[in-house]
Order: sequence, then structure tokens, then C-alpha cells
Amino acid sequence: MAEISKYIWFDGKFLTKNKAKVPVTTHAIHYGTSIFEGIRAYWNEENLFIFRLDEHVKRFRNSGKYYNISLRFSDKEIKKAIINLCKKNKIKKSCYVRPFYFVGQYGINLHVTKNAPTHVAIFSFPFGDLFDKNGITSCVSIWRKFSDASTPTQAKMGGNYLNSILATQDAKKRGFDEAILLDKNGYVSEAPGENIFIIKNDTLLTPPLSSSALDGITRKSILTFTKDLKLKTKIKNITKEELKSAEEVFLSGTAAEITPIIKVDKKKIGEGIVGNTTKLIMEQYHEIVMNRNKKYSKWVTPVY
Ligand code: PMP
Repeated sequence: MAEISKYIWFDGKFLTKNKAKVPVTTHAIHYGTSIFEGIRAYWNEENLFIFRLDEHVKRFRNSGKYYNISLRFSDKEIKKAIINLCKKNKIKKSCYVRPFYFVGQYGINLHVTKNAPTHVAIFSFPFGDLFDKNGITSCVSIWRKFSDASTPTQAKMGGNYLNSILATQDAKKRGFDEAILLDKNGYVSEAPGENIFIIKNDTLLTPPLSSSALDGITRKSILTFTKDLKLKTKIKNITKEELKSAEEVFLSGTAAEITPIIKVDKKKIGEGIVGNTTKLIMEQYHEIVMNRNKKYSKWVTPVY
């Protein structure tokens, strides 16, 4: 991770990063009672554009609702804080923005209510590619994705990511770049921090949210803009066999953007190189986030 930018927004104020600290008794450290978002901003040599700010802030607030954890600032205040954080740090490079809120001093109490004290912080750092855009290898994880029967899958909570950490550790230990988790019924769910798409018979397929996939903002964006490319799209349960015999496979997410998968376990996907449709979608996505496709200008928020 690149160095965090100098100023951090903490409960409504800008602090230098060495001053933004929390006590060891913070509830979230013990129980994972934190909520986070990952947002990207893109520098196109003229301005810095935050991608889908409204959607991210909406999900940010909703995640906490599952647990009665309060976000004590309005959506407007959070959006302003994110824009001003970029300005305050004079960011003129593509970067990642991480807003989060968490339960503070609440003892060892598991009865978290809307009155539990919470804090909000936002930091950013310069960010390039998370993965190799020439394609990565993946494996079907030994870990199953947790389901709504255990914890709400649509809440982006700190604690939820222990499942992702186990899956990532397993994949790396076996020499793969990334894991793919199956849902409780054995259908393809998603990767530890990304949604998944496959291409079969010229149709773009992605698992439904009922497969415990996060309602990813990149996923939704892809399902929208690929209509312009005259691609057929379908949300449906995907089996492990369908995954392995797909013509193309890629992951989508704020950090991963669109990352081609060229191998699943021992099976090469397609020719074992980035497929043509994936390439087209990657190019289109890049144009949109850079605000070079005016049809989707509404998806980007200029900072300056
Ligand atoms: N699934 C999980 C588990 C994630 O953490 C993320 C990253 N937020 C995604 C999917 C992709 O979501 P988005 O496109 O909104 O970043």
C-alpha cells in the first residue's frame, strides 16, 4: 500500500495522520463492529473524478443499518468530507479513498444499539492496479462464502472480511493469485473482495445476490454499460463446471476494477490470455471512470 495522504478526516475535522488515533479499548477492534467503503478517484490530467460517490455513500449508510450502528453525519456531509479530503491533500493522482465508521467506547457490551458511540474516519492513498491486468490465476476456495443465515452479506462490515482473509490465505498458500468462493449451496458466489463474471455463448453471466454476492457497484455499472456494447447479460446461478468451462472470466470491484482470470485451479480459461470481450469491457470501464464517455458523466464527481 502506498503511503497514506497527510490529512485524515476524523469526526468532522482534518487531523494529520499521526494524530488520528483510537484507544485499545475500542469496541470495533474486539468485535469487528466497523463499516467501510472503498472508493476510487481517477485523475485524467485535468481533474480528479470520484467514481459513483452517491452509490458508495448510500451503501456506507445501509451497511450500518443491519447492525443498528449509527453514521452520525448526513450523506451530504460524508460526500463533502470525501471531496474536501482530496482537496486538502492536494491529490492530483488516481487514488483510493477509505471511509469507515465504528463503535468506540462501549465496554464489552454485545448489545449494540443505535445509541452506541460511533466515530467516522476517511483516509486516502495513491493507488494504481491492484492486480495484473494481463490476467491472474485463481482457485476454487476450500472456504465457503458465509450466507445471510449467519450474517447479512450486504453489510460491508469489518467482521465479515475474516471469511475473505481465510480464502485469500488459502489461495496464496497454494500459489494462486486469488480465491473464488462458492456459496452455501455450492454455486459460485464471488471472490474475497470482488464480484465475478463469466462469458459463455456471447452472454455475460454473474451470480445473483442470493448466492451471497455483494451488490457491487462495479458489478451494477458493468450490467448497465455493457448494454451499449450489445452484450446479452444474465444474472443466474453458476456452477463450478460452468465457471471452469467459460470462454472468459473476470472479477469486478472498486480496487480490482476489471481483472481478467486466465486460470481456475488447473484449468486454463479460453486460450489462457485476456479474452476479447473482457478487453472491450475493460476499455469501456476505463473511458467511463476517466469521464471520457459523456453518457456516464453522472457517475463521476469532479473534485476541483
Ligand atoms: N464483493 C466483496 C466481498 C467486496 O468486498 C467488494 C468490494 N467492495 C466487491 C464485491 C465489489 O464491490 P464494488 O464493486 O462495490 O467495489
